[in-house]
Amino acid sequence: MTTFFSCDDFIEKARAFHGCASPGLMIGASMTELALHSLGRIQDYHALCETVRDLPDAVQLLTPCTTGNGRLHVLELGRFALTLYRHFDGRGVRVFLDIAKTAGWPHIRRWALGSDGSDDRARVRLEHEIRKAGISILSASPVQMKSVFLQDSVRETMVACIACGEPHPAAAGPLCRACAGQSPYVPKLPAVARHMP
Ligand SMILES: [Zn+2]
Repeated sequence: MTTFFSCDDFIEKARAFHGCASPGLMIGASMTELALHSLGRIQDYHALCETVRDLPDAVQLLTPCTTGNGRLHVLELGRFALTLYRHFDGRGVRVFLDIAKTAGWPHIRRWALGSDGSDDRARVRLEHEIRKAGISILSASPVQMKSVFLQDSVRETMVACIACGEPHPAAAGPLCRACAGQSPYVPKLPAVARHMP
């Protein structure tokens, strides 16, 4: 397996951070390392993941890019791909799992096409293939990011929402987005109703 990191070391970190060293996380680690290598290991870079599944955690484990520091962007495009790019000019490299290169790796191919080997033997074989295949199942190509991904996030002016009272961006208007109908929570029942049988 051609890698730039210690596989066992990564598995241990992955278990502590992600809960397990899933196939997606293992492949994601190779993708991150290939992207880092292609980028030339510069300091000022951001990451973009095209899926919410596994990849963002591989990036967070192996790079300084996290969702919390604003350097990891996640777009749910449903593609198992990630890009690392220079923040100052948007030039970067996109790495993806190349299905054309999985012909010799039947378990990886099945996993990539959505059928999870559910029994233990299939899982062991999949992990074995991932370790052996390394970066050979990946492709990389240069990309130029759109300018929206280069702008530094400017701290917005905040005002108190007229309904919940919590600070929110003034640009959204007097109601915060949650009170304006985008709340993910079921509305609370009035106190009186809660005590009714
Ligand atoms: Zn509100």
